[in-house]
Amino acid sequence: MKRIINHLKNSRRLVLATHINPDGDAIGSLTAMGLALAALGKETTLYCASPIPAVYRFLTGTTRITGQYDPSESYDTAIILDCGDFERVGPAYANIKETATIINIDHHDTNTGFGDFQIVDTAASATAEILYRLFKALDVAILPDMATSIYTGIFTDTGSFRFSNTNRAAFAICEEMVASGMDPYTVAQNVYGTYSLGRIKLLNLALDSIELAAGGKVSIMTLTREMLAETRTQPEDIDGLINYARRIEDVKLAVLLQELENGSQPANGKPRFHVSLRSDGGVDVAEIAATFGGGGHKEAAGFNIDSPLGDIRAQIVRLAEKL
Ligand code: 5GP
Ligand code: MN
Repeated sequence: MKRIINHLKNSRRLVLATHINPDGDAIGSLTAMGLALAALGKETTLYCASPIPAVYRFLTGTTRITGQYDPSESYDTAIILDCGDFERVGPAYANIKETATIINIDHHDTNTGFGDFQIVDTAASATAEILYRLFKALDVAILPDMATSIYTGIFTDTGSFRFSNTNRAAFAICEEMVASGMDPYTVAQNVYGTYSLGRIKLLNLALDSIELAAGGKVSIMTLTREMLAETRTQPEDIDGLINYARRIEDVKLAVLLQELENGSQPANGKPRFHVSLRSDGGVDVAEIAATFGGGGHKEAAGFNIDSPLGDIRAQIVRLAEKL
């Protein structure tokens, strides 16, 4: 940590990046880090390849996030947030990896240890929890806007303090964030209390798609591009839906098969799916995802696969029968 503190104090121009299809921890961490470095007088660019989900746009600093990485800009340091592997930053990866110093700040079990410096804590509830400690070490005052970002990262990554990564630090830090003047109701309302009608209709289709397999040990939810078109929703509206499949009694493994958009179709003509995996703790889904080239946490992981839907389903069922 000391070497990272020294390095950050001496850096001038930094690019901060998080993963594609960002969640609350990705956006919360990106904006909190941006605010902290601004307080230290640093020049920063905030990068995320995907659009910022509407529900996180209330966070201060999201308007500064760009989806276009300008390769003519030069930075002395890149900070990669909430990414288990470096490629998760998406299209700008090839450019960002040329930055002189790379700092990897993350909490995924499958983190590859990339970069020149790492702060990887797999016991942390969220990347935002790690940032809280970093800001303390940097002696940066945590003002309400930054506190809102940190709180949002922990609140969303713990599933509102329900998932198994909910730890003492999550409560202690969030208590301190509330004490610093941020409003937890504002976060809850923005993130979970202002869904479009289309998103609720998508929930209906998602619930209807759930099938059980392997004698009820696995639940499979399927979301197609057609369902998004029908409800006029975006991929960001899928966030959290898999938790319904996970909640079913006796289910050990919940799977969400999400057909990806046209732009992300592979050249081989096969359809591309994002597969999200969730477990009740008995099954290590990070390990399963890693065998497909993905990663994540023991109880929440994912990967992409180019294959027809029927083949993916068959692979999942075969896998689940061994559980
Ligand atoms: P989700 O199911 O929401 O896409 O992802 C669940 C968890 O797995 C998140 O922590 C996410 O960062 C991680 N994850 C999802 N897809 C991938 C992937 O393709 N590669 C890696 N390394 N992690 C992933
Ligand atoms: Mn996270």
